[in-house]
Amino acid sequence: MKDRSLLMIPGPIEFEPEVLKALGAPTTSHVAPGFIDDFGGALEKMRKVWLAPEGQPFIVAGSGTLAMELAGANLVEPGDRALVLSTGVFGDRYEDLLARHGADVTVLRAPIGRTLDLNQVEDGLKGDRYKLLTVTHVDTSTAVRMPIRSIGELAQRHNVLSVVDGVCSVAGEEIRQGDWNLDVVLTASQKAIGVPPGLALLVASQRAMETFAARSTPVRSYYADWAKWMPIMAAYEGRKPSYFGTPAVNLVAALDVSLCQIVDEGMTARFARHELLAGAFRAGVRALGLDFVATERDHRANTLTACRYPEGVAAADLLSAIRSAGVIVAGGLHPEIKSEYFRVGHMGAVCMGDILATLGAIETGLRNVGHEVEAGIGVAAALEWQAGNKG
Ligand code: PMP
Repeated sequence: MKDRSLLMIPGPIEFEPEVLKALGAPTTSHVAPGFIDDFGGALEKMRKVWLAPEGQPFIVAGSGTLAMELAGANLVEPGDRALVLSTGVFGDRYEDLLARHGADVTVLRAPIGRTLDLNQVEDGLKGDRYKLLTVTHVDTSTAVRMPIRSIGELAQRHNVLSVVDGVCSVAGEEIRQGDWNLDVVLTASQKAIGVPPGLALLVASQRAMETFAARSTPVRSYYADWAKWMPIMAAYEGRKPSYFGTPAVNLVAALDVSLCQIVDEGMTARFARHELLAGAFRAGVRALGLDFVATERDHRANTLTACRYPEGVAAADLLSAIRSAGVIVAGGLHPEIKSEYFRVGHMGAVCMGDILATLGAIETGLRNVGHEVEAGIGVAAALEWQAGNKG
């Protein structure tokens, strides 16, 4: 019997064997020619994955929060006005982070499970001279997806820099950074990018880099300062050795492998796969009689789903029953509704088999905590949805 559970949390996700192989290879020098080539190749492929041919990519050792900080620390100067569009915990995190760097922050906060009204966003932008706005593409605490293309247009129209927290969306949800005029799109390695935790990744537009170059005060973080990292990225991309802080050698090599796989799949095909699998999963969840935290159908994420517990089912009981059925899902995260829902990640290397296994485990879990469901109803609905939506 396999003693292994299926990991279906919204990051870290399950990783491809080739990626793990790169991670387990003997560590080389950070200036070895093979590693320089991996680093340079990863930077080049980021432009393809972000669909940002003119963008400046950064790869820095750290988690997604560092990626948020790289954008905030470099683009904000004390007294600058920033608008945070918050759809959950990670939007709220940006409020704290930007304030720490001296910004005068205004937050537009959506009711839990909902998006922000675009008219409200535009009114906010009209009223004040903001330098920058932040938006969480998919907030992992609610599984709400914001319409970042429209927000990018609004930001552009009002001459405000747009920073997209794409930690739970890049390489899963459709993002076309160049065409959509988004100034920074940031993420972390452990989600749809498909590499174990430890890399902060972002691509900045030329406009963002010019804003950075025009700063009149020093960046308030030594490690996050783009001035330190820009020459490093340029050197590696030019296939030359360089050093500021020791790069996470094995993670960068693994990143190069994963980005190669992503580019080979093709971005349009990859976005479509995530959409198809998310649709199948939601169809199954609905058939099992569960509701979603994200209330607007068109704004439910394709990278994770936040499912409400049915009435009378205790959170801890169901989570452990699902785990006993072989699948690991995540509990609630939003402090106000934490005990009311659980989260299932379906991004990166995920396939239909994983979706069906997860629905089967949720069904088994529900039955084992005394909640009756018709045998196979979730799996059947997912398969039916897939058959009706393929190609
Ligand atoms: N933003 C979002 C949308 C996230 O989901 C996360 C992590 N779950 C973060 C930021 C922070 O990333 P990390 O935990 O890697 O610091």
